[in-house]
Amino acid sequence: MDRVIVFDTTLRDGEQSPGATMSPAARLKIAQMLAEARVDVIEAGFPAASPIVVHSVAEIARHVRGSSVAALARTTASDIDAAWEALKEAEAPRIHVFLATSMLHLEHKLRMTPEAAVVATADAVRRAKKYCSDVEFSAEDATRSDWDFLVKVFSAATNAGATTLNVPDTVGYTTPGEYAELIAYLRERVDGAENVVFSVHTHDDLGLAVANALAAIGAGARQVECTINGIGERAGNCSLEEVVVGLHVRKDVHHVETRFDATKLQAISQQVARATRMPVQKNKAIVGAHAFMHESGIHQDGMLKHKGTYEIIDPKSVGVRQTKFSLSRNSGRHAVLAHARDIGFVFDRKAEKKFLDAFAAFAQTRRTVSDAELVRLAQEATGASLVRPPGRLEEVPSSGDHHAGREFASNAIMTSYT
Ligand code: MN
Repeated sequence: MDRVIVFDTTLRDGEQSPGATMSPAARLKIAQMLAEARVDVIEAGFPAASPIVVHSVAEIARHVRGSSVAALARTTASDIDAAWEALKEAEAPRIHVFLATSMLHLEHKLRMTPEAAVVATADAVRRAKKYCSDVEFSAEDATRSDWDFLVKVFSAATNAGATTLNVPDTVGYTTPGEYAELIAYLRERVDGAENVVFSVHTHDDLGLAVANALAAIGAGARQVECTINGIGERAGNCSLEEVVVGLHVRKDVHHVETRFDATKLQAISQQVARATRMPVQKNKAIVGAHAFMHESGIHQDGMLKHKGTYEIIDPKSVGVRQTKFSLSRNSGRHAVLAHARDIGFVFDRKAEKKFLDAFAAFAQTRRTVSDAELVRLAQEATGASLVRPPGRLEEVPSSGDHHAGREFASNAIMTSYT
């Protein structure tokens, strides 16, 4: 099966989220977690941006093993030299050179002619190539560039030795169909296309970052640039967790695989959220607090009967311990009873009815019903007192306990979520 290279840019484009600047220690920790999860390439920063980034990229290059480490550079000699200076101790260094190719950027931002851009591309790739064999070239704003001009620029890059050609949708403007066509167009026409990896880099301005990346992979792109939690400039980048898990869950459609260990996703996501002070939205795919939580009675009942009814991803496969049910007035009696039984209550028919009626009345005006509230309602109905507090099973010795063997049963349905 074809493999897609996962290029993480959490520490470069991700850190360009407003307010997300991270300490060098936090950056190193995230790089090491990504390497442990077998990400292929870690873009560690843009060294020309600041002396602290130079130091941080160098530290990451020195310590990370098992993943390539990339640094970003404009086409200027000083940028490329700074990138190499930061990368030189890396086990597998990559210099990533970029130049804008849309007329909008060339005319208004760079004040450069298209001809000069082709020359600058070739010169920059050649300079980077003197330092290391792994050179990526990005045509910034590619999706708003003239396609035939892109062929010229990318051909100049491959002829100068570029090994990866990145086709960024810098402003999140493209659509899945259009992006797939562009990738196919370039793969057919760029000099030496068969010997380079085409890469995609997408943004979420129209909510299409992941969809666009998947479409481009379908058209033959074999590197995807993405960030943990989808953080990045403006509305963010393609989310690593969504693209990696999406490729895996629907490999029957995509026919590609990655090397990434998805069981590490939850931990990395939380680390990035803490380091950037950007909490993950609760309904975020894969890593959101609600991604494996079920609220309605019909769904909870289905899940109790067969996990496949309302989950397409095994939570453990993405580092989430288990499915959770949220108990509220939307919950069904099956889930409410199952949870009370898991906590340890035994109901006769009369107590069961009393408990369910009390639950229904109590839940009417609540957002959710917590474990403690559920225990109180069950105690009032059964007259029984509980032998141990719910949800703290790790602290309770299990020997001689009639719940042994159901260690996390009570946590399996966590109710207090506000
Ligand atoms: Mn970007």
